[in-house]
Amino acid sequence: MTPFPSHDSCRQNPHRAGCLENSWQADKPSAETAIHLANPMSTKFDAIIIGTGQSGPFLATRLADTGAKVAIIERNFFGGTCVNTGCIPTKTMVASAYAAHLANRGSEYGVCLPGKVSVDMKRVHARMNEVRLTHRKGAEDRLRNHQNCVVYTGHGRFESAHEVSVGNQVLTADKIFINVGARAVVPPMPGVDQISYFTNSSILEIDYLPPHLIVIGGSYIGLEFGQMFRRFGSKVTIVETAPRLLLREDEDISAAILDIVQREEINVRLNARCIGFSKRKDGIGVNVDCEEGSPQEIGTHVLLAVGRRPNTDDLGLDKAGIVHDERGYIVIDDELRTNVPGIWAIGDCNGKGGFTHTSYNDFEIVAANLLSNDHRRVSDRIPAYALYIDPPLGHVGMSETQVKHSGKRALIGVLPMTSVGRAVEKGETLGLMKILVDADTKNILGASILGTGGDEVIHCILDVMYAKAPYTVIERAMHIHPTVSELIPTMLEKLKPLVLQDLSRPDLRHAAA
Ligand SMILES: Cc1cc2nc3c(=O)[nH]c(=O)nc-3n(C[C@H](O)[C@H](O)[C@H](O)COP(=O)(O)OP(=O)(O)OC[C@H]3O[C@@H](n4cnc5c(N)ncnc54)[C@H](O)[C@@H]3O)c2cc1C
Repeated sequence: MTPFPSHDSCRQNPHRAGCLENSWQADKPSAETAIHLANPMSTKFDAIIIGTGQSGPFLATRLADTGAKVAIIERNFFGGTCVNTGCIPTKTMVASAYAAHLANRGSEYGVCLPGKVSVDMKRVHARMNEVRLTHRKGAEDRLRNHQNCVVYTGHGRFESAHEVSVGNQVLTADKIFINVGARAVVPPMPGVDQISYFTNSSILEIDYLPPHLIVIGGSYIGLEFGQMFRRFGSKVTIVETAPRLLLREDEDISAAILDIVQREEINVRLNARCIGFSKRKDGIGVNVDCEEGSPQEIGTHVLLAVGRRPNTDDLGLDKAGIVHDERGYIVIDDELRTNVPGIWAIGDCNGKGGFTHTSYNDFEIVAANLLSNDHRRVSDRIPAYALYIDPPLGHVGMSETQVKHSGKRALIGVLPMTSVGRAVEKGETLGLMKILVDADTKNILGASILGTGGDEVIHCILDVMYAKAPYTVIERAMHIHPTVSELIPTMLEKLKPLVLQDLSRPDLRHAAA
């Protein structure tokens, strides 16, 4: 079984599951490449960037603005994962799913529709496609229109520490930036090679409704797609090997998310062991062997959402002597430099982020250090992310579990969204807010806001954390009424000592004192 479709099979059938992010358009030299073939001298650049994700193109134009001659290589769609198969298309479809959900709840608000709500998947798909194509074109045009940038389409690969091949061309530069991103993992689960399955890329190509979608993986990507397709009208089952959804989150957040999805009649199968697939006359059988319920789920379609792996396996890293870890992530220092002088790794391929904002931040750090004499580091940033189910989760800094493990004396504030006036007015009261504060320094350690507007509201906490200001700054601030944010000062007024549940653990005991 091939865990990921080979390059040859992707070339024959680019729409095969797993191919979209891993394919490249052609091995033939592009128009630009042809120009350089005729003039081999011009293949020497000041900088080469491999990949057009969320940091490479910004760095390319920033360097080119200084007069540097920059080559940028893309093997697939300009803009990378976020633009084509990640954030932008998914959030566009999440918006359609939200509209469908509100329409179905219309009567609760006194809005009566003449008939049953139906979703036109062709229009949902067309709307999503229009948004992502606009972004893709914008990303490509910005690069092609810059007089100091030369765009190459094809697969870039190191030939040495200063040489990168693309098609028949070898480009050289003293500075090389790797922005090759990551792709969906296709795990070697029994029977996976016997069935058709979707990844986050291929599911975005469908313009019909899967009658029963089984999502393997109850984490960020799986939950977003699961809720979205449920709202479009699919029956959805989420299968997760862990005992709870989103193992990385605190238990109360994870439980609240389970409640949110179960209210929408999404079937969640936890503790799934030995997941395996079989083709059946009536669809696809998925062995789950959970502690409770039937040992098999039968669906019509399967989405694999079980993680990502970096696109570093066919990059010639060994020829350049670039060190990577056992999972393929390129090892970098605090300024994104690899072990080889003159080579940087930015974005998902360095394993330090996994988000569009972390990739973009990588660009800012490299540009500041190289061009502005402004010493910025990866360790300066505060972890922050959102989960775009509805209501969304915004998270910054440490979780409650991490604070407990840290041994810090801490204070905690928790508020259910039912206490938030704006949430009540909107009829969206699911979820909770939680904040953790260092009892000694008064600095905010972390926060989670699972609730309406959580992805935006979290930034008022994040900015105070960046300012290294005490929590009392927000506590005393006058926030606008009626908003979700106005309840953050209220939550901070009611902080209590963080009680450790597992006092038998010596490493945690002193933190409770
Ligand atoms: C379904 C989904 C939803 C997501 N939602 C969010 C979200 O809401 N918010 C968020 O912050 N993040 C989200 N992410 C993550 C986000 O998309 C990535 O973290 C982001 O795209 C950063 O990627 P990057 O810059 O590392 O490179 P990428 O965007 O992955 O781009 C890498 C580019 O390099 C190209 N490439 C690879 N190898 C080569 C090579 N050898 N030669 C030439 N070109 C090459 C690829 O074709 C690709 O275009 C989501 C991801 C997925 C899958």
